[in-house]
Amino acid sequence: MRKTIVAGNWKMNGSTLMTKKIIIGTMARLWDVDFNENLEVVFIPPFIYIPIASDLVKDSRYEIGAQNMYFEDKGAFTGEIAPDMLKDFDVKYVVLGHSERRHIFGESNEMVAKKVKKAVEKELVPILCVGETLEEREEGKTWDVIREQLETALSQFDTLPEIVIAYEPVWAIGTGKAATKEDAEEVISKIRSWIKEKFGTDEVSILYGGSVKPANVENFASSQEIDGALVGGASLKPEDFAIIVKTFVGRG
Ligand code: PEP
Repeated sequence: MRKTIVAGNWKMNGSTLMTKKIIIGTMARLWDVDFNENLEVVFIPPFIYIPIASDLVKDSRYEIGAQNMYFEDKGAFTGEIAPDMLKDFDVKYVVLGHSERRHIFGESNEMVAKKVKKAVEKELVPILCVGETLEEREEGKTWDVIREQLETALSQFDTLPEIVIAYEPVWAIGTGKAATKEDAEEVISKIRSWIKEKFGTDEVSILYGGSVKPANVENFASSQEIDGALVGGASLKPEDFAIIVKTFVGRG
């Protein structure tokens, strides 16, 4: 099912106090939002704050996501987090293939694919991030790069698993320079067509991510192609994150 999803990726930011301030502050600002079955608002804190975050959203319609996970169940993998550990704290979503994981920590398409497979097996919903660098865009390789990212991560499935895709152009992440509505729509509609051709359905939520903020969110929310946003920096400010959620909720 295509849902409207607004997810806040806190990256490596936060503290116990900030976790409480962001979650309580966002919820207080969204008290009058109608959470129908089509809307998901997700907080994605660093691992260590997940237990607090999970407690804060208990019995609410908000969901918790993780920023990463490993593809093994358990064992000698120092510093890694297993899917069952996330499930232990009621985590629903897991961001996989974020460009910071790919480019700073060297995660390959193959590693992302293993993580996607394991997440699906464990009934976590992957938020699979795909996107091109500025260099790749300028060389006209945007779609080739994204198709390869999709193919490697999803060709291992015969039917479309429960998954969310986030189109995040690398040059737009954390730079303040968001993609235009047209650029985002063009890539997202290609992703949707690729999914339809491969799986015979396009019932998948595809988000845009990259410098979404109150000043530009209307661009993306006004597009029927774009099902929501993966928000980094602005998700740390409850007043901004709440505006972003409300803009998506309020679209026609
Ligand atoms: C992100 O971290 O996925 C992201 C989109 O960051 P920002 O909104 O800060 O560009």
